[in-house]
Amino acid sequence: MRILLVEDDAMLADALATALGQRDVVIDWARDAAEARLALVDHDYAAVLLDLGLPSGSGLAVLASMRARYDTTPVIIMTARDRLTDRIEGLDAGADDYLVKPFPVDELQARLRAVLRRSLGRVAPVLRCGDVVVDPASRAVSSSGVPVALSTHEYRTLLALMEKPGKALSRTALEDAVYGSDSVIESNTVAVYVHQLRRKLGEDLIETVHGYGYRMRA
Ligand code: CA
Repeated sequence: MRILLVEDDAMLADALATALGQRDVVIDWARDAAEARLALVDHDYAAVLLDLGLPSGSGLAVLASMRARYDTTPVIIMTARDRLTDRIEGLDAGADDYLVKPFPVDELQARLRAVLRRSLGRVAPVLRCGDVVVDPASRAVSSSGVPVALSTHEYRTLLALMEKPGKALSRTALEDAVYGSDSVIESNTVAVYVHQLRRKLGEDLIETVHGYGYRMRA
């Protein structure tokens, strides 16, 4: 099992990683929002422990972007802020639970077990566009019933387009969907993913909107 710990306080992160990291648990540590977004591109986590007050961007934005792409990974917010509005904002953004610092590690472990139990059997909606079907819960993509293997970046590009069939998405909007809004990326990468998607799923699936971006054929 792999868990992402997003926490800028190195001492706290170290203590939590030591307490949680047992023989079958791998803890990845992200120090800020940008690192968290990158880690979420590279791995599928069983759960995310998320500090809200981070040096670069809010933990809430990380959570919101996860939920926007149907990532149903359980998220427990950990924050020193104990104001009611922060709790409500966190839960509204899709957090599964909320711990106010300081908290006993035992309590975190118990809540982690609870969200992991609840996340089994959680189902995200299946998206369809013509012959192409995307199941965000399993990350499975098929075309005319045949499974198609996509890279993480190709998958995210497709997911963003499939959410809004017939609607043009700008290159910037697609880059945000793939990388998160605070990442620095090279230009033209979205064009590369679209090229790969056309090659794997059919040339006329995604239309180019010249000077703007792309559109999923409705
Ligand atoms: Ca913090």
